[in-house]
Amino acid sequence: MGMANKKGGKGSKEKTEKKKKPSAKVAAVYEVAGDSLKRKNRKCPKCDVFLGQHQNRVHCGKCGYTEMK
Ligand SMILES: [Zn+2]
Repeated sequence: MGMANKKGGKGSKEKTEKKKKPSAKVAAVYEVAGDSLKRKNRKCPKCDVFLGQHQNRVHCGKCGYTEMK
């Protein structure tokens, strides 16, 4: 009787790949970095959605709220 002693077949590869994830804190940093990125936090006081940016005003496309700069 022959005993088939098979070795291997089981691929135990260890994945040591590190994925760099951009932290959410970056957004907060940008906020302070420049005025041009300030628009990110402009939100509509009524519906809490981001306001559309225009030359001299911000506008909410949801409720129509407009705020002059
Ligand atoms: Zn609104």
